[in-house]
Amino acid sequence: MNVKMLVGGEWTDSAGGETFEVKNPANGEVVGTVPKGTREDAKRAIDSSKEAFGKWSEVAPIERSRILLKVSETIRAGAQDLAISLVLEQGKPMGEARSEVNSFASTFEYYAGLIGRERGAQTPFSTGEGFFIVTKRPVGVVGAILPWNFPVSLMGWKVAPGLAAGNTFVVKPASTTPLTDLMAARLLLKAGVIPGAVNIVTGPGGVVGEEILDNPKVSKIAFTGETATGKRIMESSAKSIKRLTLELGGSDPMIVCDDADLELAVEGAAWGRFRNCGQSCTSVKRLFLFESIADAFVKRLADKTRAIRIGDGLEKGTHMGPVHTAEQRAKVEGMVEDAENSGARPVVKGQVPKEGALAKGNFYSPTLLENVSYDSKMAKEECFGPALPIFVVKDLEEALERANDTPYGLGSSVWTKDLERAYHAAERIEAGTTWVNSPPISRAEVPFGGFKQSGFGRELGVEGLDHYYETKSIQVLEYGKGKKWHFPI
Ligand code: NDP
Repeated sequence: MNVKMLVGGEWTDSAGGETFEVKNPANGEVVGTVPKGTREDAKRAIDSSKEAFGKWSEVAPIERSRILLKVSETIRAGAQDLAISLVLEQGKPMGEARSEVNSFASTFEYYAGLIGRERGAQTPFSTGEGFFIVTKRPVGVVGAILPWNFPVSLMGWKVAPGLAAGNTFVVKPASTTPLTDLMAARLLLKAGVIPGAVNIVTGPGGVVGEEILDNPKVSKIAFTGETATGKRIMESSAKSIKRLTLELGGSDPMIVCDDADLELAVEGAAWGRFRNCGQSCTSVKRLFLFESIADAFVKRLADKTRAIRIGDGLEKGTHMGPVHTAEQRAKVEGMVEDAENSGARPVVKGQVPKEGALAKGNFYSPTLLENVSYDSKMAKEECFGPALPIFVVKDLEEALERANDTPYGLGSSVWTKDLERAYHAAERIEAGTTWVNSPPISRAEVPFGGFKQSGFGRELGVEGLDHYYETKSIQVLEYGKGKKWHFPI
C-alpha cells in the first residue's frame, strides 16, 4: 500500500516529497509507505480544517447525525479490509482487529444517536430579575494525536463525538500505524463528511505533532499515548490555552478476593493481560490475589498462559500477535529482567523465538512472574507487553493500599461475589474505571478516562461529547427589572 495523506479532501504527497515505510511487526516486511509530513503540511491541514469548520459547524445536527450513521454503515461494509490492514501494521490477531473495527463503527453509531436530541432548560436567576440559558458551541479545530495500540478505535473515540458536536479535525496517526487510519478517512469522506472536516497528516510526532501543538488555530488537543508525551503536550498547549483531553498510561490492578469465581477470574486475567499482546492502556498490569486462593489461581492461570499460541495475526489459531516494535519488546524484557534480579520467580517464562518464522518478528511469549518486589519496575511503572506480575495479599485493605500505590489511575478490577465488598473496593480504588467481575471492556456509552497521572477529560459517553463543546451562558434581564444596576452618577 502506497498511500497519500488527506488534506482538504485531497490525497497529497508531503511538501518535502519524502516518504517512510510501515513494517509488519510479525515479520519485519514492509506493508506500505506514506508521506513524511512536514510542518508545512500540518499547517495546510490546519488551515483547511479551519475553513471546513465554518461549514461543518453550520450543518444541522440532525444532518450530522445522518452522516455519522452512514459512516458507521460504511465502516461495517469495509470492515474486512480495515481489519486486515490493522493486523498487517499493528500485529494483533484478526479476531481482535475485527472487534476493534466493530467498536470504531459503534462509536459513530452511538454519537449519531445522541446528537440533535439533547434538551436544555431556561433557568430563572435566583434574584428573579430574569433568566439564563446555557448553550453549547463546538470548540473549533481539534488536533487528534493517536497511538499505535488501537489506531482506529481511538481515532473513533475522538473524531466521532468531535464531528457530532460540529468540530473539525487534523489527525496525526502514530508513525508505525498510519495505514488503517488513512483507509478509515476514505470511508468517512465516502459517507458524506465534508472535505477538510477530517484531515490526516502522517509524519513524525516531533514535526507534525509539534506544529499541531504550536499552531494557534488549533483550539483543542485530544491525545492518547505515553504520560511523558502528555506532559510535553500540556506544556506546549499552554502557549495558546488549548483545551485538552489526555488519555495516558496506566498500571491497572486486578484484585481477586477469596470468594471470587476462580474460573471466571482466571479467564479475566488472561484476557485482560494478553489481549493485544498486553498493549492496552487498561491491560491488567498488576495482579493481586488473596493468600487462600493464590496457589490454585496461579496454577490455573499458568496452564492457560502456556496454552496461548503466538503467531502472525492473519494465521488461523493465533491467540496473541507480536509486540508492536522491537524497542517495545526490549522495554518489556528489561522490566522482566529487573523483576527477576530483585527476586521474582518466573511461573511461565517469556521467550524470544530464536529460529523459524517467528524469529523474524517482535515476538515475546506470555510471561507470569510471582514473588515480585514492590520496588521493581513492573510494580512501579507501566509494563506495556505480555508480562504479568503477581502479588499475594492477606485481605482487601492490603490489596487496596497496594493497588493505589502508583502514580497511575486509569482502570482497575475487583473480583468477588460479595456486592458490598465490590462497592467498597470500587469507591476506594483511585482509577477512572473499576470493572466488577469483568475484564477491561470499553463501551461507547460509558465515559472513559484517568485519575492522577493517567490523564484527564473523558472520552465516550455523554461526557465524551461534552468535551467537544464550549459552554456558553446567555443571561437575559427581564424588561423593567434592571433599575438597581444603573451607574450612580
Ligand atoms: P507516544 O506517546 O510517544 O506516541 C503517541 C503519539 O504521540 C504518536 O502519534 C506520536 O507520534 C505522537 N508524538 C510523539 N512525540 C510527540 C510530540 N513531541 N508532539 C506531538 N506528538 C508527539 O507513545 P509511543 O508510541 O512512543 O509509545 C511509548 C510508550 O507509551 C509505550 O511503551 C507505552 O508504554 C506507552 N503507550 C501507552 C498507550 C496507552 O494507551 N496508555 C498507548 C501507546 C503507548 P510518532 O508515532 O510519530 O512518534
